[in-house]
Amino acid sequence: FFIALEGGEGTGKTTQAGLLVEALRGAGQDVVHTREPGGTEGAEAIRKLLLDPPAGGWGIRAEALLFAAARADHVDKLIGPALAAGKWVVCDRFIDSSRAYQGHAGSLGDELIRQLHLAGSTGLRPDVTLLFDVSDVNVAERLMSRDRGRSDAIGGRDPAFHARVREGFRNLADGDDSVIIIDGNGAPELVHRSVMAALKPFLEE
Ligand code: C5P
Ligand code: MG
Repeated sequence: FFIALEGGEGTGKTTQAGLLVEALRGAGQDVVHTREPGGTEGAEAIRKLLLDPPAGGWGIRAEALLFAAARADHVDKLIGPALAAGKWVVCDRFIDSSRAYQGHAGSLGDELIRQLHLAGSTGLRPDVTLLFDVSDVNVAERLMSRDRGRSDAIGGRDPAFHARVREGFRNLADGDDSVIIIDGNGAPELVHRSVMAALKPFLEE
């Protein structure tokens, strides 16, 4: 069973992935906890290229291809085999980040991102995508209080970019029952309870 956690910067994905993995393991599941871009040696190497770009930065198409290449390695070597072995996979970001960031905020369009995903990663979709939605004001506050030396955010702290990303994510939930929007504005424990409530039907299967 494949769960992806999605949302913009500062929406709590990483914290919630940790709490979710802990809860699932506590319930006796064999869980692979991973992230994007990254998760395998090759994909982590590509992550470094993305977060430490050459002078002038990557163009948006090169950036989309690098994310797709990282995902291809991750799916081939880690996610695919884990799912085939009947394990649970909890992934911090997956294809919907590419759709929201490069497709929507970066204006490449959804069709191109889906084609790259089909070519790179056989179009694999999570069984459930948890989409963390946090108000722009709360996100701005969280990002301000993060380590100021942190340089790894693509789009930096440009509020307009983050708003576009948020809009892109919200569009993805429309008409797709596998994407569940989670209100991420509350305290971590509170949000975790919403996550477990959303997953309850699947845990009982
Ligand atoms: O979630 P995490 O902080 O690990 O993501 C690393 C960086 O990559 C973030 O700045 C995120 O905005 C960016 N990213 C992106 N496009 C994606 C996935 C992540 O710009 N498809
Ligand atoms: Mg994170």
